[in-house]
Amino acid sequence: METPFRIGHGYDVHQLADQLPLWLGGIRIKSLRGCVAHSDGDVLIHALCDALLGAAALGDIGKHFPDTSEEFKGIDSKILLHRTLRLLDQAGFAVGNVDCTLALQSPKIAPYLPEMRRVLAEILQIPVSALSIKATTTERLGFVGREEGVEAHAVVLIMQK
Ligand SMILES: [Zn+2]
Repeated sequence: METPFRIGHGYDVHQLADQLPLWLGGIRIKSLRGCVAHSDGDVLIHALCDALLGAAALGDIGKHFPDTSEEFKGIDSKILLHRTLRLLDQAGFAVGNVDCTLALQSPKIAPYLPEMRRVLAEILQIPVSALSIKATTTERLGFVGREEGVEAHAVVLIMQK
């Protein structure tokens, strides 16, 4: 018998480069550097999409929204999250809760977290209290610490409707 609850995990990394916009959690962050990507490079939303797709065993973001497609060039990742939710809905799942961790050295993300949570919870049609985002630095260690890139993890619980 299949369990009515499923968990999923997602992980994504993007490289940072000068003079690109930085989009994280669906909002624009004030920064001199942004993510190198085919889409808007929202690493947090990408990890979240992968967690949702993973929980439903529907593959990954690259399968549904290939970075070779013109359709997704420069696309707002919130659209990808909307579409991911539709795929889950069609498969008979609703989202329970979400927990994400964002790793980047700078800028400070804490002031942006309430707005990110509001935006993402609205898309996923869950209460803000069911959507957690934490931000951490890596104490200047590794590629995140050297400000070469940004990393995101997401864990979700979904349930059969
Ligand atoms: Zn990505």
